[in-house]
Amino acid sequence: MIQRVKGTQDFIDMRLFNFVISQIQKHLQEYNFTQISTPILEHTELFKRTLGLHTDVVSKEMFLIENKSASDPEDSICLRPEATASTVRAFLENGITELPWKVFISGPMFRYERPQKGRFRQFHQTNLEIIGSKSINQDALLIRMLDRLFKDKFLLDNYAILINFLGCYEDRNKFNQELKKFLEQITDKLCQNCLERKDKNPLRIFDCKNPSCKEIYLKAPKTIEHLCKDCDAEWKQLQTTLELTSVSFAHSSNLVRGLDYYDKTVFEFSSADLGAQNAFCGGGRYDRLVSEISQEKYNQPAVGAAIGIERLLLLVEMFQNKLPIPELPSLYLIIPLSKDQQLLALLLANQLSSNNITHDILFDDVSVKSLMRKANKMGAKFCLILGSQEQENHEVTVKDMTLGTEQKIKQINLVDLIKKKAF
Ligand SMILES: [Zn+2]
Ligand SMILES: [Zn+2]
Repeated sequence: MIQRVKGTQDFIDMRLFNFVISQIQKHLQEYNFTQISTPILEHTELFKRTLGLHTDVVSKEMFLIENKSASDPEDSICLRPEATASTVRAFLENGITELPWKVFISGPMFRYERPQKGRFRQFHQTNLEIIGSKSINQDALLIRMLDRLFKDKFLLDNYAILINFLGCYEDRNKFNQELKKFLEQITDKLCQNCLERKDKNPLRIFDCKNPSCKEIYLKAPKTIEHLCKDCDAEWKQLQTTLELTSVSFAHSSNLVRGLDYYDKTVFEFSSADLGAQNAFCGGGRYDRLVSEISQEKYNQPAVGAAIGIERLLLLVEMFQNKLPIPELPSLYLIIPLSKDQQLLALLLANQLSSNNITHDILFDDVSVKSLMRKANKMGAKFCLILGSQEQENHEVTVKDMTLGTEQKIKQINLVDLIKKKAF
């Protein structure tokens, strides 16, 4: 048998998935976000330029596709690994001038990484971005909005909000020098990856999952201790606004998020209930990304976040009994007892469908007992049984599958009685 591609998954029932997506949509629309859609295919260059050459995503995890039609052999396309760079590209390419541009994208993303628990090669995200807003209070509002989403729409309370502040571009450059100095002193203790990161992009050492590296980095210099005067004031304001708007958070000095485009605010929502891959939402400010993609002087400050749908689903499943997941409409299952009643069954189904009543027909010519067992498994609320007697008398036997009771009624009255909720 041909099996599904490693690191992908089938969703056999989309009810909970759709509920999660629709709750997110509803919430974001309440905060004046507009849903957009961008292609899954993008030029690889878009991500190389923006995410950083030495990030894990670009160096190891891109899903590249041979671009046979390209005139330039170097031009490769890829399956998008994330949606922020795509959103910024769409912002520029469509000449958006109404600012701030508050938008979100829901859909599949792709990373060619070793599949493991909680990580897929094809996974789903909702990305939300606010492009064209400089105020640090926008960051606080975004974090608060996400906190309300998880608390109000999904009743989650088993998570923590971690925040760090990286400072502006200049602060980050200075900090990278400090970090490099720190790393030079302990080169014998670093893993091979971190040794390379030390020279190419020191900040990326914090992405290391090696326990011994992680332990050492607890003593590393902290970004918040290397902020310029303006950034220091913004960092303080961010904390004050969050406190005033009742958002509980903790400062995590080694939180940098795995991508190069972040500056200033970075944050993560994580839950111990998810195990090692415990972040289910993360984001931050990216004040230089627009100019990096436009490659012109044009720039817009921006802030955004991504929600990992698979991980959020794992959390939501724990509370799903309490959630207002829309119930399926009652199923009316038409059961012709022999081939002779199948045409009548079809005619009855016609009546139900023109009245928007959820129904199905069992055409299997088997014993009544196994038909009833099947009806139960299908979750039928009522069975509409058509035997030779019913056919002769223009009747139908309505069986209530919850109570086990039966009654015979005239076929002509069926739709009326269903609408009057007689059954
Ligand atoms: Zn600064
Ligand atoms: Zn390491």
